[in-house]
Amino acid sequence: MTSVVPHYIDGARTTGTSGSSGDVFEPSTGALARKVAMASQSDVDLAVASSVKAARDWADSSLSTRSRIMFAFRELVHSHRDELAALITAEHGKVLSDAAGEVQRGLEVVEFACGIPHLLKGEHSEQVSRGVDAYSVREPLGVVAGITPFNFPAMVPMWMFPLAIAAGNAFVLKPSERDPSTAVRLAELFTEAGLPDGVLNVLQGDASAVNALLDHPDVAGVSFVGSTPIAKHVYSRGTAQGKRVQALGGAKNHMVVLPDADVDVAADAAVSAGYGSAGERCMAISVVVAVGDIADSLVSAIASRTGSLVTGPGTDPASQMGPLVTGVHRDRVASYVDAGVAEGASLVVDGRGHAPAGFEDGFWLAPTLFDNVTPEMSIYRDEIFGPVLCVVRVPTFDAAVELVNANPYGNGTAIYTGDGLAAREYQRRVHVGMIGINVPIPVPMAYYSFGGWKDSLFGDTHVHGAEGVKFYTRAKAVTSRWPRQSGIDLGFPTHG
Ligand code: NAD
Repeated sequence: MTSVVPHYIDGARTTGTSGSSGDVFEPSTGALARKVAMASQSDVDLAVASSVKAARDWADSSLSTRSRIMFAFRELVHSHRDELAALITAEHGKVLSDAAGEVQRGLEVVEFACGIPHLLKGEHSEQVSRGVDAYSVREPLGVVAGITPFNFPAMVPMWMFPLAIAAGNAFVLKPSERDPSTAVRLAELFTEAGLPDGVLNVLQGDASAVNALLDHPDVAGVSFVGSTPIAKHVYSRGTAQGKRVQALGGAKNHMVVLPDADVDVAADAAVSAGYGSAGERCMAISVVVAVGDIADSLVSAIASRTGSLVTGPGTDPASQMGPLVTGVHRDRVASYVDAGVAEGASLVVDGRGHAPAGFEDGFWLAPTLFDNVTPEMSIYRDEIFGPVLCVVRVPTFDAAVELVNANPYGNGTAIYTGDGLAAREYQRRVHVGMIGINVPIPVPMAYYSFGGWKDSLFGDTHVHGAEGVKFYTRAKAVTSRWPRQSGIDLGFPTHG
């Protein structure tokens, strides 16, 4: 009997009412590992109603209570990190150390949210007029939904729900149907930490569950992370319903390597950021921009490292890179390799056809490297989201900036150089949300906010950090007077 990954509603696992389910695979073997429940409209209604009910009391809970529960949750996630990492590896495929790293980065947002009493402090101005004070407060929105992608089944949900909940909201999480188990386990740990039932519900499902959440009148805000076409859809459908929406989309992240860079340092960075998690990271480097005469030595340094990477099951400590998430996705990535060859790029390292012994049916594609890629090619234009690194050669720094800025995506970018002035110039001129200077994957710390520009973000608020607090709350400005006497004055109030 195949087990079914359930929803988690009102503090309990439930398989819901729809009777329909999706497939969840074990990527390293290609086996159908379990099924996942798919929410019907009535499951969505049930989850939202549970959250509406829970949100009232939760918004009234003291800041100290919320902070204490958050600290307890932090301890539980920390002590269960190996179990969570194993769940991630089983369904996503990434190697265990990478899965543990993702849990850690999510935990950092929980730690940030532990400071919610400080984060929600308002402003206060005494005596704005005689006997009049003015102050501002931030209140929760009510029920917020989060829709998350497959590639970080722990970290991306934890970018959202800890802060939303600490700010006094109830949260309905719709994780990816491809690796749905981690979300349920996180919600159970939060219940164990003392979170009241219904404050965090997990609803499993696909596009129809997402659309039902977007249309639900009791959902006040939506955080989305996923691919650009779906981010656009979620943003336009959610905002058309009057909701507050932040929708983070896809990426094509460029790493610019200037002629003065240390070739070994740059090659190590390109390989780590290009092939880590099999390239299934929104901050993965997918394009290396080789400026001037560094190109030949850089390509051969990347190629020699790429050829010796160990691709294998995520549970094997010797593996540096795991399989792709599903067979469909592996085939899509492989079709881009075919397209790159047909379009005339130079295939320096070919990862097609690789399969570790004993795991022949897994969703494998080993690291792949293209040189002499040009901007018209589909391997440059499209987000491939796999272990395929493209090298584009440009003659000058200005040409590199122009290339990056002409790309429709603007999530992350990195520059490798020993020239501080050039790095500063790049940081100022480039139209990208997150920039690394000799740092290949510049994911901001939890106390900064994460988000891209252009087609990598729809909406104007980034996630976590100060912008996260802002997104999950709305402001009230209060003007207050305690008069001893009064009189009629029909003029517009000014403050003398
Ligand atoms: P996806 O867009 O296919 O799915 C994301 C979520 O949307 C899932 O929960 C899915 O069930 C739901 N969904 C899918 N199709 C839908 C539809 N037609 N209507 C409504 N909802 C739908 O993304 P994915 O393949 O799970 O994840 C990979 C993508 O996420 C990549 O493009 C990657 O760059 C992006 N990503 C971006 C960031 C970021 O911070 N910008 C972070 C992680 C991943």
